[in-house]
Amino acid sequence: MAARLAIPLPVLDDGPQRPVHAQGPRSLSAVRMLRISLTDRCNLRCRYCMPEEGVSFVPKEHLLDVDSIVEIAGVAHGFGVRHFKLTGGEPTLRSDLSEVVKGLRALPGVDISMTTNGIHLPRLIRPLHDAGLNRLTISIDSLRPDRYREITGGGRLERVIEGFEAAASVFGPPKLNVVAMRGVNDDEFLDFARFAIRHDSTVRFIEFMPLGESTLADVDPSTVLVTAEEMIEVLSVTLGRLEPLEFGADPGVGPARLFACPGGRGRIGFIHAMSRPFCETCNRLRLTATGTLRSCLFDGGEVELAPLLGSGDEVIRDAFARCTAFKPEVHRGRGERAMSSIGG
Ligand code: SAM
Ligand code: SF4
Repeated sequence: MAARLAIPLPVLDDGPQRPVHAQGPRSLSAVRMLRISLTDRCNLRCRYCMPEEGVSFVPKEHLLDVDSIVEIAGVAHGFGVRHFKLTGGEPTLRSDLSEVVKGLRALPGVDISMTTNGIHLPRLIRPLHDAGLNRLTISIDSLRPDRYREITGGGRLERVIEGFEAAASVFGPPKLNVVAMRGVNDDEFLDFARFAIRHDSTVRFIEFMPLGESTLADVDPSTVLVTAEEMIEVLSVTLGRLEPLEFGADPGVGPARLFACPGGRGRIGFIHAMSRPFCETCNRLRLTATGTLRSCLFDGGEVELAPLLGSGDEVIRDAFARCTAFKPEVHRGRGERAMSSIGG
């Protein structure tokens, strides 16, 4: 195993800060978002997320069914959660994806989004829209076909671009997620910014997080990490000063620090979980595809919800409260489970 990454202390700057919840992140009232993993399976093998071979997936019969997902989401709705993000693994591999969206849509006033690699979107976008999905984020780590194939273990870039266009035609331009990796795609930050400007979209650069047994698990993570500060510096040289946006300038309640691109079209975001952890304002919990509630991507205190299904809202709500209390003050910078198995 690689040595543990020493996390630099959070750097304070004068950019806009997220509101601090009055009762702190370890209280149920601070939870705003439930990320729901629909499967741990995927049609890609992104190097930072999974090993190339030998991944063992959960048997399909152990996955939560639609009614169970909606039951758990309903309890979260009862204590104030209005944002649900479908993720995985690759959520579009679930044949009952639209049923999940419909079930969540029946909860009053909810915002339902999904993070996907985009490959199946051309065929799914209309049913997802009709089921009540609000918006999408597409993950794409290179705009160069060969490199994209290499990073994803065989993915075809043109399929993702088709997915982006299909989503844009129905929902407007989706957000993009890009995992920034030194020596892999750190010469494309400007290309992504220009893509965001051209499509008036938001591109969010995510700092690489060492989680689980990915292909990069044995690499010293500090050699892969490109910090948000570095990226801002690089982008500013060509684009000029990036204008900080207020938290909440984009739909959703995500942790990205957002900037407007010069010229008024396009936004650039940074998810600086490593260089500047945002644990003190973390407002989310994660539900794995098998019904485990997880408090943190890195140091996950977990609570099993699956055995509690059907026991009534109070019991499940108590389990949510117990899990929320497990949230660390600051994560320790390495996690034993991959994003794909937790619901990244
Ligand atoms: N398959 C979907 C996708 O790729 O968008 C949803 C699941 S994926 C686990 C969710 C997000 O986590 C993606 O944007 C992916 O790039 C990001 N991700 C996965 N592993 C990561 C890691 N080790 N560090 C940073 N981001 C990671
Ligand atoms: Fe699959 Fe998403 Fe992980 Fe890539 S990041 S392997 S698309 S789950």
